[in-house]
Amino acid sequence: MISRHSDESLPMSSADPAGQASGAPGVTPPHGASGADHAETWLQHGDDDPTDSAIAPPLHLSATFRAADAADFAAMASQSRHPRYYTRYGNPTLARTAALIAGLENAPAGLMTASGMAAISASVMALVSAGDHVVAQTNHYMGTTRLLGDLLARFGVTVSFVDQTDTAAFAGALRPETRLILVETPVNPTLALTDLAALAALARERGILTLADNTFATPLNQQPRAHGIDLVVHSATKYLGGHHDLTAGVVVGDEPLIERIWDAAIVLGGTLSPQDAWLLLRGMRTLAVRVERINATALRVAQALESLPGVAAVHYPGLTSHPQHALARGQMRGFGGVMAVQVVGGYRETERVMKRLRLFAQAVSLGGVGSLAVHAAAMWAGTLDDAAIAAAGIAPNLIRLSVGLEHPEDLIADLSQALAPD
Ligand SMILES: *Cc1c(COP(=O)(O)O)cnc(C)c1O
Repeated sequence: MISRHSDESLPMSSADPAGQASGAPGVTPPHGASGADHAETWLQHGDDDPTDSAIAPPLHLSATFRAADAADFAAMASQSRHPRYYTRYGNPTLARTAALIAGLENAPAGLMTASGMAAISASVMALVSAGDHVVAQTNHYMGTTRLLGDLLARFGVTVSFVDQTDTAAFAGALRPETRLILVETPVNPTLALTDLAALAALARERGILTLADNTFATPLNQQPRAHGIDLVVHSATKYLGGHHDLTAGVVVGDEPLIERIWDAAIVLGGTLSPQDAWLLLRGMRTLAVRVERINATALRVAQALESLPGVAAVHYPGLTSHPQHALARGQMRGFGGVMAVQVVGGYRETERVMKRLRLFAQAVSLGGVGSLAVHAAAMWAGTLDDAAIAAAGIAPNLIRLSVGLEHPEDLIADLSQALAPD
């Protein structure tokens, strides 16, 4: 559960294998010893362990760790975020994975969790108390919306939901008891953006913490901390893992905040399996090439979709038609693989398109090697009423596409045949 020992401060020496998070690409100073000045290199060497000759990282599939003697045991038991005590508290494979991701996000520390929702819920529960106020977006990943809207209310925390595209609305919602601003950009499933720098500035001057869900963008396309955001969470289930084979989450930030979140996470109990952390580490070696290719393919697909008959609208931050394209260019380096397509017609016509798709699997999740499609309204039809679905910004004719590593022409051909009017 921990990224590294708690008692280390920047900069880390290269001889300390648990602490490479400080050598993050783009962070000063760069990781001098390994020369990992760029994300591509960091992904291969950011977690190098000079004390271990193995090229592939070891998998510490152990729930517990032996102490050398009684004094050592007492020290282990009392040390915060010990990486070799009990896996819910810390594990070398989890520490290694967290350090690699923290480095990518220019953060000194990180904490692995069992899922993206475990990272978000542990973070929020750690940072707010009864009587506190949170400002969040009207649109979020649905799990986050439910955490903020249902669960927190039961613990005496109030939440204001504002239009993420309107920075003034965030400012207007702040109260003296506001402790946390939670943002997600680009957002699921409408691909609207939040102005990270404007939000961070607003929060900073009032001493309010900011947390950004960076899942859709990936650390390669967007680094919220570079815009002044305090904490960054990912559903590592998506791009970081990238192969549709694991569930994991991570939160990264400064030491004292990660320490606080760890302290809540060990009692909430959403521990990531070391096996899945190892798989995540393996998937991340190719993150940079996957994201680069997916960025390029998704832009081509989005541009092609715009001129297809049967398409009413395409929402993708990389398109010049996106109402926040200028903001996207300012705060993102690439635009990711997720887009939303609105089909000509309503729910029924959209279902018909879904039925005809061949290469896009009809499945939730996103960010993996294979392309996926979700009829967003159908996903929620069983749990939310029409009004709630509409309030979440989900039009009945909206399909969320996650573009994978297939050839762009094959994907465009699949979408063309599925969308073709009869
Ligand atoms: C999937 C997702 C989550 C939740 O992550 P899990 O790993 O499924 O718990 C949170 N935020 C966003 C943006 C997501 O796409």
